Amino acid sequence: MSKKRKISYYEIFEENLHLQDHDLEKILISFPKRVFISSPILADLIVEKRLYLLTKLYQIGIPFSYNDHMGTNLLHMACGISGSFEMVRFLIENNLVSDPNYQNYRCETPFSVALFYEHIDIVKYFLERFIIKSAIIYHTGETLLDFVKKQNNDEILKLLNQYLISHCCKQMTTYIDDPRVPIKYSKKIRSYSIPRKGKTVVQVIHYCPWCGKKLPKQLRDEYFEILEREYGIEPDLDSYLQPGFPEEFKDDTWWKKRGL
Ligand SMILES: [Zn+2]
Repeated sequence: MSKKRKISYYEIFEENLHLQDHDLEKILISFPKRVFISSPILADLIVEKRLYLLTKLYQIGIPFSYNDHMGTNLLHMACGISGSFEMVRFLIENNLVSDPNYQNYRCETPFSVALFYEHIDIVKYFLERFIIKSAIIYHTGETLLDFVKKQNNDEILKLLNQYLISHCCKQMTTYIDDPRVPIKYSKKIRSYSIPRKGKTVVQVIHYCPWCGKKLPKQLRDEYFEILEREYGIEPDLDSYLQPGFPEEFKDDTWWKKRGL
């Protein structure tokens, strides 16, 4: 005679998922906290977009630290095939899972998952609020930008071009973000350089050390000329500290806008 198997908390949850929020809430708050860490209850609630229940669970201190066997977390899931902007915002704004660059074992990040499923609202939200690591190389050997180019979604490509910097080759894109490699990029004046030890001056480079391509023209002179001509601001590297300094000159907006 077979022994009757004990039904798990997750199975109880699954059987009652169809219930109205208030009835399911009563069941969920009776579960021990550890169940939410070891089983995908929160992941399912995210996929089902049950915001009321997620909010209640968050308010009673349930940890949102669930990861599946691939290291995929709740933010990855909120960006997935059944993902939604509302769920992403809930996780980020309550600081429950808040890193769009966090990689699972396949090197996927919440940001790359949102790109893959073409959730433009989520992609835009991440780009506006976070520094997205474009240098991440996926298990396929592609970078984020390689992937997007292949995807052929003009709207996403336009967004990424607006926010991310793409360099001449994969190596440059990777190493520019790597603190161990002494190559620096200043997006404000589009300058590639090697810092010189103990000196404040840098060695500007004109060709990529990896692929050999000529790098785009440095815009240091243009930066000062345009600031003076259009805004009457005296050329001085510290002028950005003055009140009323034009926002567009604090990063690469000014030269992208002028098509330089
Ligand atoms: Zn290169």
